[in-house]
Amino acid sequence: MPESDHTDDTLARRGLMFILSSPSGAGKTTISRMLLDADEEIRLSVSVTTRPPRPGEVEGTHYYFVSEAEFDRLVEEDDFYEWAHVFGYRYGTPKGRIRSALKGGQDFLFDIDWQGTQQLYQKDQQDVVRVFILPPSIAELRRRLESRATDSAQVIDARMERARSEISHWDAYDYVVINDDMAGCFAKVREILDAERMKRQRQTGLIPFVRQLMN
Ligand code: 5GP
Repeated sequence: MPESDHTDDTLARRGLMFILSSPSGAGKTTISRMLLDADEEIRLSVSVTTRPPRPGEVEGTHYYFVSEAEFDRLVEEDDFYEWAHVFGYRYGTPKGRIRSALKGGQDFLFDIDWQGTQQLYQKDQQDVVRVFILPPSIAELRRRLESRATDSAQVIDARMERARSEISHWDAYDYVVINDDMAGCFAKVREILDAERMKRQRQTGLIPFVRQLMN
């Protein structure tokens, strides 16, 4: 008899909705990419947006890029978990297969803002884990935004303005991580994900196993 006789069913658990938010420039996109590369159990929830693609962005990988009319249609058909106006464009989380995949144990990563986070949390408190990434300082945030070649000075000013407003919502998150060092920040985000996966309520497959241990 092996010392451990738990099965794959024992390990079965409900998936979680792992939300990463931050002002743009705080490193969220890089952390998201690192997480998706390092962890096979989590998949990105690809948002729909009316914003035009930036150089290098791929349809279906970074976003689904749609017209205003198409976005209106999706809203009318109730195809979004949540949607919000950000920087003059609209962004939304398509329902797609998320709900059924969560039941099957699939985790999803959401790179969405505080408005979307609030809406998702209101709909599904059980599955949502909210993580906020802060920059080490406002000066460093501006430096990071300026080092991106893609945005004009006007866009950077608007993003700085919005960054301050986004930061003001930090207290609506479960976890807050300061990104002063990318590797350290990533390690902390992974620890949060690992710990959340072990929450008793998510480990539905453990119930028969523990009953058997008690008999
Ligand atoms: P960007 O245009 O730089 O890709 O994203 C701008 C902002 O929109 C970011 O803060 C990002 O998190 C947010 N965002 C992206 N997708 C969604 C979404 O589906 N819903 C909401 N509420 N925000 C989103």
